[in-house]
Amino acid sequence: MNKEINILSNVGLYIRLSREDDDKTLESESITNQKSLLTQYVKEKNLRLVDIYIDDGYSGTNFDRPEFKRMIDDILKGKINMVITKDMSRLGRDYIGTGELIEKFFPTHGVRYIAVTDNIDTYLDSSNNDIAPFKAIMNDMYAKDISKKIKSSLRAKQKEGKWVGGRTPFGYLQDPNNKNKLIIFEEQAVIVRRIFDMCLEGLSFYKIALRLTNEKVKTPAEYYSFEWKNNYHLNYGLWHAKTIRDILINRMYIGDLVQNKRNKVNYKVKKIIKNNPENYIIVENTHEAIIEKEIFYEVQKRIPKNVGRNEKKETYLLDGLLYCGDCGHRISVTSRRKKDNRCYTICNYYRTYMKYHVCTTHSNNYDVLEKIILNTLKELCLNYIDNKKIKEETLKNINNDNKESIKKEISVLETDINNINSNLDNIYLDKLNKLITEEQFNRVKVKLENELKIKQNRYIELVSNINEKSNNEMNYKKIEKFIDEFLSMEKPNRELIVNLVDRIEIFEDKKINIKVSFNNLN
Ligand SMILES: [Zn+2]
Repeated sequence: MNKEINILSNVGLYIRLSREDDDKTLESESITNQKSLLTQYVKEKNLRLVDIYIDDGYSGTNFDRPEFKRMIDDILKGKINMVITKDMSRLGRDYIGTGELIEKFFPTHGVRYIAVTDNIDTYLDSSNNDIAPFKAIMNDMYAKDISKKIKSSLRAKQKEGKWVGGRTPFGYLQDPNNKNKLIIFEEQAVIVRRIFDMCLEGLSFYKIALRLTNEKVKTPAEYYSFEWKNNYHLNYGLWHAKTIRDILINRMYIGDLVQNKRNKVNYKVKKIIKNNPENYIIVENTHEAIIEKEIFYEVQKRIPKNVGRNEKKETYLLDGLLYCGDCGHRISVTSRRKKDNRCYTICNYYRTYMKYHVCTTHSNNYDVLEKIILNTLKELCLNYIDNKKIKEETLKNINNDNKESIKKEISVLETDINNINSNLDNIYLDKLNKLITEEQFNRVKVKLENELKIKQNRYIELVSNINEKSNNEMNYKKIEKFIDEFLSMEKPNRELIVNLVDRIEIFEDKKINIKVSFNNLN
């Protein structure tokens, strides 16, 4: 359903220059060139020029361009009804998107489109426009080709050992005299050296991170935070064990250039994926080392190989909730034995430092333990419900009264505070109008302000009290839902258990202490 073309033309010229074009330094594509060609055309054809839209430095592979958007807006507002570009690729290099524009959007909005050097004019006999889809495909292919070319030239530079940008590794800066070279950033390098030293001293990643955090040493995230404006709410001051590990295994620090760690999925999607280490491009001795090779390789020996969970291991219902009642460390569960399918609990501290006799085994048949714990938990839940019922019934009336009276007090306080404020305004005016003396004013002012302070504090106290209560009520309801579910189920799932249990302490003498989340609410 084409709208009839408006005879009176209101022309918008669209001009685009992208980085892809820049690389080829095509003079014919420059902004000035496009502009003079198009204004010339408008003059020759006696058209009425309304606006010029220029996107400088924007790729044609998508339509995320400010001036393009403004042009679309103006079309929707009816300000322009004719769009002229030098050629079709100025509009876009994405076949689907450009096709939609020319075949759907423009016609339905009564816009005539002209691509001067491609001889396209949507107003003229449509047979001439059969070339349009074909052209669009060509443009699409061109963009893919360029994106491939940029990628391969980057890779070639990486293979030559040239730094090709992105965020510099912590401890280094881009050489201001040579953008393909890294130089040491001493302020950060000091921190890197300390991390390696601490590792050699035998500190764990976690301990290193903790020490740096406590000393308020600036984290990489803090240094880079200006680049990540969107994430300013994150807590940048904390060092993480993972950051420490990443630094300790980074070959950049012995002067080797490691690149191509990440890759763009394709030219249209901005998504970045991580490459496998075998695809990394590594060139040795390209820049000054921060860490000596001997130290680096000594540290590598100390880095645990299989960080993370063994994938084959079964997840037990109580995984992560079990703690040693005697030393406070976690208790883990071993894999099932082949001969009898049994698995056992063990204190992690004991297992790690067996030689030093720091704790004891805390060995229990896990399945038996789980059964006992679930039964105990059931009792605790039933108890809680019973107790709560009794308590609720006795407290119900008192509570309700209490709540009502608090609400009443709050509203009285609100009125009082308003009154005091307007009294303060009044005496100020009285003083200005010389109805009262300075001395009288001061005396009354002090009195009113004291009163105000007292009332405001009481008000804040009551309001936060009521909020806390309703928060607690919400928590109660949530927990009660979990308890109901738990009691009605034969074998509960992990999520349910995690919501009901804070921690379970196992003692060597077989005593068990279950800390549940619902008791804390009272
Ligand atoms: Zn222990």
